[in-house]
Amino acid sequence: LIQLYIPLNFLGVLYREIRQALTDIERMFTLLRTEREVQDAPDAVELPAGPAGLRFDNVSFAYDPRRPVLEHINFDIQPGHTVAVVGHSGAGKSTLSRLLFRFYDVSDGAIQLGGTDLRKIRQASLRKAIGIVPQDTVLFNDSILYNIQYGRPEASHDEVIAAARAAQLHDFILDLPDGYETKVGERGLKLSGGEKQRVAIARALLKNPPILVFDEATSALDSKTEKAIQAQLEAAAKGRTALIIAHRLSTVMNADEIIVLESGQVIERGSHSTLLAKNGAYAQMWTLQQQEESMLA
Ligand code: ATP
Repeated sequence: LIQLYIPLNFLGVLYREIRQALTDIERMFTLLRTEREVQDAPDAVELPAGPAGLRFDNVSFAYDPRRPVLEHINFDIQPGHTVAVVGHSGAGKSTLSRLLFRFYDVSDGAIQLGGTDLRKIRQASLRKAIGIVPQDTVLFNDSILYNIQYGRPEASHDEVIAAARAAQLHDFILDLPDGYETKVGERGLKLSGGEKQRVAIARALLKNPPILVFDEATSALDSKTEKAIQAQLEAAAKGRTALIIAHRLSTVMNADEIIVLESGQVIERGSHSTLLAKNGAYAQMWTLQQQEESMLA
């Protein structure tokens, strides 16, 4: 049996390596394909450095012209302010962030950053100005240091540590077997969803972008982790123009404006207290989540 075990074990390792390589290749092609969807205009400009406001001006969008995904979306985020978008699964929330990153161009209307239409901004300049904390962070099969430094490869070691501290990751890293040199990812230490999210926050903080997009993870978290994430989120958003795509309403209570999206349309908007007083869709979602959380506690 042992004679069979070794080759079988080897095959298992080989299979995992090939699967990872295929995933990487697939990801690369997806990126390349997306890159080709939009092109820089010949007269595209650089975004000026510093804070910038964000405006969705009557934006409509469809991946397939037969099926509209966003219809006539209007909102403004003043420099340094936070706007949150909430809504059921499939409402179109993540599509907003894909349009902002210009993975696709709007079908109608316009998105403006610092008063300039996204289609007039160089894509490299646009992507430099926006930091995204995605739902599911991709970790490279490399050290945790490398994974954070990816946010700004030229950053110094001290800057990486400062970003890790701000994302409440530093003490966790010091407890790892090889500290900042610990290998993470598919072939290294597997991090939990919350830990990966903190790596993404550290990356974004290191990048120090004027615009921050936070695409919250869907999975239910215990209330302690939830509070920690809330604190990290608020720290990361400080002084930046922030768009939060939220699943847990408790993380958006302090947003300057909350937008409720349903089937690609804005059905309610306002502050947390205004929306609760309105007793509409947001209030219903809030009551439901409070009940779910008390059941989990
Ligand atoms: P969730 O809360 O589940 O993340 P969401 O509100 O972020 O959902 P989106 O991901 O923006 O929703 O998707 C909005 C709609 O667009 C959905 O009906 C989805 O099926 C569709 N959609 C998303 N991505 C694509 C795509 N690449 N091609 C075609 N349709 C898509």
